[in-house]
Amino acid sequence: MNPISIKDFTIYFENQGFEALNQWIDEHQPSTIFILVDDKTMENCYPYLIPKIETTATIEVIEIDHGEEYKNIDTCAGVWSALVELGCDRNSLMINLGGGVITDLGGFVASTIKRGIPFIHVPTSLLGMVDAAIGGKNGVDLGHLKNQIGVINAPVMTIVDPTFLQTLPIQHLINGSIEMFKHGLISDRVYWNDMKNSTDFHSDTFNSLIYQSAIIKSDIVSMDPLEQGARKALNYGHTAGHAIESYLMEHDTKDAVLHGEAVAAGILIESFLSIKYAHLSQTAYDDIKEWYHGLQLSFSFDEDEVKEMIELMKYDKKNSNGQIKFVLLTQIGDFITDQVVDKQDIINAFQELKK
Ligand code: NAD
Repeated sequence: MNPISIKDFTIYFENQGFEALNQWIDEHQPSTIFILVDDKTMENCYPYLIPKIETTATIEVIEIDHGEEYKNIDTCAGVWSALVELGCDRNSLMINLGGGVITDLGGFVASTIKRGIPFIHVPTSLLGMVDAAIGGKNGVDLGHLKNQIGVINAPVMTIVDPTFLQTLPIQHLINGSIEMFKHGLISDRVYWNDMKNSTDFHSDTFNSLIYQSAIIKSDIVSMDPLEQGARKALNYGHTAGHAIESYLMEHDTKDAVLHGEAVAAGILIESFLSIKYAHLSQTAYDDIKEWYHGLQLSFSFDEDEVKEMIELMKYDKKNSNGQIKFVLLTQIGDFITDQVVDKQDIINAFQELKK
């Protein structure tokens, strides 16, 4: 699989990635290499990575607890302090080894410590490989509001190695695959169908789908790095999805939800809205609905809950002038952005989750 280059950084696959990493280390001679992990990636991924790094530089490991609840400024403060105590300087390198939480938080910490040090993402979750570690968005949550604090700053490189997926729990494999389905919906009908027909997460066929997904995301990001136009499409399903995530995080009595699961629900809701506001055909909608219900998620919200979520949607970064703006599908493989819809239609769309 050939490397994918976006303006100022490259995504490498499998061993080519580790070769590129060692070459970069050889050329730049970092003073210290910091590896950020969570407890799960320390156990499952660090032992695979460490023999691949060829260096005489000191390697320091900084470990945080796993989970979205730690993607916050308090955790950043802990990592910033550890970096300073361990002698981080402008010539240090940070490697973020983990899922989207580690790459989002690690990229933000590296972009801000000492006004920025170089960092490399080694995504270990499927969501990280096809989405979070591509595109240069880094950041953390503020209270229950997702990704409110952050910067856009590209890593030196991202290394995608599906070997890491062997230890990833099935729920997280499904979680990451949702973003791959989304990539098909917004840009490529054939890819959507290939995803629907894929049955084995640990196969060459699936590795090739990961590669194609990384290309789709990279192409969109390189067209619009600052999210002023086409990149908004990557938020398909996320306006409603983020509101569901924030709502469930805020109401501790409710079960926690994975990002991809919430986005899947968001995709169904926004596809329903697409029928009225973007002329998505009923056949295409039925196809998406069949896929959604096949995931067997159990979201169900009453009207009061949906109204609370509509309030949460107002924090979405795509909005302006207090209006909630949706990306909608005109057909499978194409979209329009900045669509304002009626509140009652949003309430009705949420009811589709139950059917
Ligand atoms: P995550 O980082 O919490 O990882 C999921 C779980 O899997 C964690 O418990 C982690 O420890 C564990 N894990 C990761 N790799 C493993 C492996 N190989 N073996 C065993 N366990 C492993 O969550 P995620 O789903 O990877 O990412 C979600 C985050 O990504 C969210 O915070 C979301 O906002 C963010 N995100 C960012 C972008 C972006 O463009 N920056 C895009 C999409 C999502």
